Amino acid sequence: MCVRSIPSIQTVHVHPSFSEAPMSYAEDDKGPFIVHVSREVSDPASGTTIRAIKFGQFLHTNKIKSVVNDGVKNVGRNKISVQFTSAEAANSFLSNPVLDLCKYKTTVPTYNITRIGLVKGVPVDWSMQELVESLELPSGCGQVMKARRLNRKTISEGTVTWIPTQSVVLTFRGQMLPEKIYSYHTSLPVEIYKFPTIQCLICCRYSHIKTQCRSKPRCYKCAQPHTGESCEVSEDNATCLHCSGKHFTINKSCPEFSRQQSIKVIMAQESISYLEASSRIPLPLDPMQK
Ligand SMILES: [Zn+2]
Ligand SMILES: [Zn+2]
Ligand SMILES: [Zn+2]
Repeated sequence: MCVRSIPSIQTVHVHPSFSEAPMSYAEDDKGPFIVHVSREVSDPASGTTIRAIKFGQFLHTNKIKSVVNDGVKNVGRNKISVQFTSAEAANSFLSNPVLDLCKYKTTVPTYNITRIGLVKGVPVDWSMQELVESLELPSGCGQVMKARRLNRKTISEGTVTWIPTQSVVLTFRGQMLPEKIYSYHTSLPVEIYKFPTIQCLICCRYSHIKTQCRSKPRCYKCAQPHTGESCEVSEDNATCLHCSGKHFTINKSCPEFSRQQSIKVIMAQESISYLEASSRIPLPLDPMQK
């Protein structure tokens, strides 16, 4: 009838049924049935506070059954992964009151029970809710939990503005990424979405940014323990923290940057965790991990 001309103001839409309840396993999810457990700590720099073997003992003491042997592992700072033999066992663990009592927080790793795809050509004046409501999904494909429009950063005269693009990232519940979906009877091919490779400007590690950093500063110019932004060392005299090469640690020609990009590809293609994907690509030299 009439053409809308309202610019998109809403860039993320989360399906209401997914924004309320924490995630759990559905009957038709395939394994592995993994639950991540972490504990709120007052001092995040205090390092690992849960050890896998101690947590295994905690599970035993509290009569939590159906845990897979070798299924209790440390997966990052202050985080344990527990694998169960069934969806039911994992879900009953998620709602076990003893976890709350002991200040443990549980989550189901989303890469395990969701698939993330990218669709292009979504008119910029549509809200994400409108897009989601217009969709027709193939059978076997789970609901769209979340839709997020990608914005492109532009800098003009020192001012940063974000311009909406026609690309939208869709999170589907379940373990199937459809090849295409329909919006108002028009097909939209779905591509595998790969998370961008991000790097911290404070500690130079990947997968977080400086506002989320919990580590001590390491200079991306000279590798000394201070922040790189104020360091005066030039790139000719630089030492890379990752490969010891003669470039800034944030230089995209660093072999570690390409490795991190490959990790993101494997994570997207196989829906596995960062740690798992990372362990597949050997680290020839990484002084930061030592
Ligand atoms: Zn950092
Ligand atoms: Zn420096
Ligand atoms: Zn390097």
